[in-house]
Amino acid sequence: MSLRNFTSHHEMRRKTYLKIINALRAGVNSKRGIQDHSGLSWGSCSPVINHLLSQKVIVTQGINNEGKPGRGRKTRFFNFNREKFLLMGMEIDTMRITSCLTTLGNKQLGSYTTGFDQSITTKNIFKYITKAFLECREKLQLEPENVICISFSIPGAVDVERNTWLYCERVPDINEIDFSHLSGKGVLPKYLYIQHNIHAQVYSVIPTAEIKENDYVFIHVGQGMAMSANMGGILYGHRGFAGEIGHIPYANIKKDVICLCGKKNCLEAVLNAKKILKYISDNFDCDVRSLKEIKDEEIIRKVALDYLLDPLIYVSTIVSNIFDPKRMIIEGSVLEPFYKYLITAFEKRLRQTTWLNGPAEVVWYQSTDMDGSYGAILHSSERIMEDFINEIDMDH
Ligand SMILES: [Zn+2]
Repeated sequence: MSLRNFTSHHEMRRKTYLKIINALRAGVNSKRGIQDHSGLSWGSCSPVINHLLSQKVIVTQGINNEGKPGRGRKTRFFNFNREKFLLMGMEIDTMRITSCLTTLGNKQLGSYTTGFDQSITTKNIFKYITKAFLECREKLQLEPENVICISFSIPGAVDVERNTWLYCERVPDINEIDFSHLSGKGVLPKYLYIQHNIHAQVYSVIPTAEIKENDYVFIHVGQGMAMSANMGGILYGHRGFAGEIGHIPYANIKKDVICLCGKKNCLEAVLNAKKILKYISDNFDCDVRSLKEIKDEEIIRKVALDYLLDPLIYVSTIVSNIFDPKRMIIEGSVLEPFYKYLITAFEKRLRQTTWLNGPAEVVWYQSTDMDGSYGAILHSSERIMEDFINEIDMDH
């Protein structure tokens, strides 16, 4: 066979595998269903399904004709193996790593959080990731070789193309950590993917929100503040930093503040828990250490309307007028205690401040609805599949 023929033959095989695996990932699990979903002939489907079965990528499960497992005439159904070819997502935070394990079909099998005594640094990151990997594996009773990849959700500045964690305000020691160097190191798997936590987090709520279209902006206001804009595809910008809305200077500020980034009057230096608590102690006879402790309705209302509303409207108007999204998704631990008063006032005012009434819909979430470790897997899904298909010996 000439090299050209070999290349096109290989490419065709690759596409057939991808179509069948994607059908299985979409939840189609019968022979007929896979055939219909993939648009392939049975002659093309059958050897690939048999190969995936022989490699234990998928397993069969018999279901009788009444649709129940057990006795009776059985139809064969296929499922991804729950013990092999597993995917791990890891959400890295300063003092902890949350790991989540799924099948190749993105079905969640469990999750585990590993805490550390000291903050993550360039020096200890490999040790910490390995510890989290082994603890999650032990908790879920798995062999390390059965995990084929780890997808990381990372705070700060991330260069997805170069697989590099560039910088993080909250972890000053982080400086250009190249994750390619960790690939296959020790017990870690060969395939590692990284992305900014904001993109991973929004991916974890998209399936539950039933947001199918790639037309939204997601605004997060937590320890930091960031945005993920998806306009027919996620916008990364030239260096992968697109969405750093937290570092836009807030024009209506009354008294200068210095942000963790070193610049003046950034929005996230205003919209953060510490500053809100200071606003409360300066203006009310109330001494609380966390936002969740505030019980006084009048204080909750005043913080929502007098403190949070304006900077949030300020940034949302900029975002809405630049991107013209169909949906604006807002979420964050800092805003949640004030949702009761904030949501109505925000939506009313956004209509007044934005060009042609702004987004069609504003959707609000609780930060507990987000799972960056799971979202990291969903976010890397296509890259994982490409690498996985290249890894299996298709010309068996
Ligand atoms: Zn800043």
